[in-house]
Amino acid sequence: MVEEFGTVTTAVVTGGCGFLGSHLCDHLLGDGYRVLCVDNLDTGNLENIQHIRSGDFEFVNHDMTERIDIVEPVDFVYHLASPASPIDYLRLPLHTLKVGSYGTHHALGLAKFKRARFLLASTSEVYGDPLEHPQSESYWGNVNPIGPRGVYDEAKRYAEALTMAYHRQQGVDTAIVRIFNTYGARMRPNDGRAIPTFLRQALENKPLTVFGDGSQTRSFCYVDDLVRGLYLLATSDEHLPVNLGNPSELSLLDLARAVIRITGAESTIVYEALPEDDPKIRRPDVARAREILGWEPTVELDDGLRRTLDGA
Ligand code: NAD
Repeated sequence: MVEEFGTVTTAVVTGGCGFLGSHLCDHLLGDGYRVLCVDNLDTGNLENIQHIRSGDFEFVNHDMTERIDIVEPVDFVYHLASPASPIDYLRLPLHTLKVGSYGTHHALGLAKFKRARFLLASTSEVYGDPLEHPQSESYWGNVNPIGPRGVYDEAKRYAEALTMAYHRQQGVDTAIVRIFNTYGARMRPNDGRAIPTFLRQALENKPLTVFGDGSQTRSFCYVDDLVRGLYLLATSDEHLPVNLGNPSELSLLDLARAVIRITGAESTIVYEALPEDDPKIRRPDVARAREILGWEPTVELDDGLRRTLDGA
């Protein structure tokens, strides 16, 4: 149980009804926090929080692009609200830019007013189609600002700049995490991201659709590892960006084969055109997370895929 001066520690989780946000709410409640889950249900779902029975949990239906007032004291603001899957941000380009800008302003304003520690959920997409491999936090990225994915990449880059400005000019206690591909239960089967898509196709014994020739690489982190890292970063005193992700890298083709093996499906693999500006390689350098937080991912891909199938 986390107690500060006799009161429970309170965390606001924006985007708390989404995939990562709902797992984070579980983790914080398990640690004795009071959690205010703020979400407008754009891409999240009340089903993701329906198992939560704690009296220390409250759902606030609010769009973060509007100002937010919370009466009670707040110790942490975890700012995760944003469309995250290409399917969502290509469908909601202006909203994605607004939530990265106005939404982050309002979340930072709340943290400033409450003197709370603020954590921005940024993304490996700030590195774009990287020219440095693996990607360390000192790499500035190779992003196409005017391509269709630019709405997400630039929203997050702006949100990072804004976070550092609130820290440097206003003295807000901020942290920035650059999250690499993460997977686990509660991802939507149709959200277009590789693992839920492959799992859905394999469970229906349909062909798995791989973009391009499938040689582009990604690194997949299991959600429990990621959430543990978010918590460690939020409770540290680090202000500069920290990568969190699993450095074990594999091609999309190998991922498709792993899903077929784990599910025992009889699916074949079919190939489709590569989406515009799809990064060819992606692997986090997690030396800073290791050094500053003592963090390391521990769940292997096969185990994580099984747990995802079990809905763990
Ligand atoms: P998700 O779509 O499941 O969750 C996002 C949540 O934010 C949803 O519940 C949605 O309803 C909410 N939201 C969107 N706009 C909002 C608004 N204006 N006001 C209030 N709520 C709003 O996505 P996720 O995968 O859980 O991602 C969470 C965060 O982590 C995002 O900021 C995303 O950019 C970041 N991230 C995720 C990954 C990943 O692999 N899952 C990788 C990199 C970064």
